[in-house]
Amino acid sequence: MREYPFELALCAHLEAREEAVVARQIGGGVRAPANRVLDVLVVDPGPEMAERAALTPETIPHAAVESDVGVGRARDPTTAIDAPPERARRVAERAVELGFFERAVGGGVRQVARYPDDWFGRLVGVENKPDLGSPGDLELQLRKDVSLALVDEVVLATESYVTGAHRNRIPEQVGIWRFDPETGEREVVRAAEPLASDEAGVELRDRHPLRTDVAVASPEAKARRRRRMAERAYGKGWRPDDFPACAEAERVAREGSEGLPYCAWKDRLVNPANCGPSCPGHDPADPPEVDVAGARDGRTPWVAEPEGKARRQSGLDRFE
Ligand code: SF4
Repeated sequence: MREYPFELALCAHLEAREEAVVARQIGGGVRAPANRVLDVLVVDPGPEMAERAALTPETIPHAAVESDVGVGRARDPTTAIDAPPERARRVAERAVELGFFERAVGGGVRQVARYPDDWFGRLVGVENKPDLGSPGDLELQLRKDVSLALVDEVVLATESYVTGAHRNRIPEQVGIWRFDPETGEREVVRAAEPLASDEAGVELRDRHPLRTDVAVASPEAKARRRRRMAERAYGKGWRPDDFPACAEAERVAREGSEGLPYCAWKDRLVNPANCGPSCPGHDPADPPEVDVAGARDGRTPWVAEPEGKARRQSGLDRFE
């Protein structure tokens, strides 16, 4: 089983079974987030989930969330946002577009509503390795995740039979799921142990023949990064935005979750990024119509069209 179809089937399964936001490919490092990308991130809702969902369905730029722009007095974005002036203006512009900031008379900006810091709870990172027979650098990846403890739990998901030798090689804090992407059956082979996500962690960075570079990540840096990850996951989700422009492509559902790209020619889920004229089965056509937001809406705590936003929008329309 290839990793992409496995990952999509697992995301569809988690979306169907958990009351959580599910997203693919989220940066999971503190100093260099792109150096460690989590295959799947499961974000459990916190007490302020509804407040976050009421803001916008998209990712709010972290520079806007972490800025000194508040709900009261309007602020000049170039002094309230920690970025060079041009970028600060762009961040403010984007936050206004999303409805998180509003413009005040005089050109300053303020938050439309307070950002709810407690909107998410537990973060679970899932590393997918359908075939444990070709583990690559799996063990090292999982050691990095446990050492940094940026997420609350780390799980390895596989389709393979898990032997005692496999278990012994995988750090003991890491949970193991055996998942069948065809039937949607998931067996918890070993439960994950909670990690100390609110304490300092050690980030394993470059490895050289005789040494490994490490950096200590403070609890504050980790908390900031966790919020960025949750925020990114909220806007991103896991479904592909674009389907293959091919007559063989279809839109299918798994466990009630719509919006997965299936290829009739290959008889399996496919990664649209790999589709094109170089594929022997390619038959040029318009891609199938897919309503990604419609497929996602109502399946998780994510809300496609927040009510408050719709009201604000219709209120604006009246005066146009
Ligand atoms: S390009 Fe190939 S893999 Fe992609 S949908 Fe068409 S036939 Fe299937």
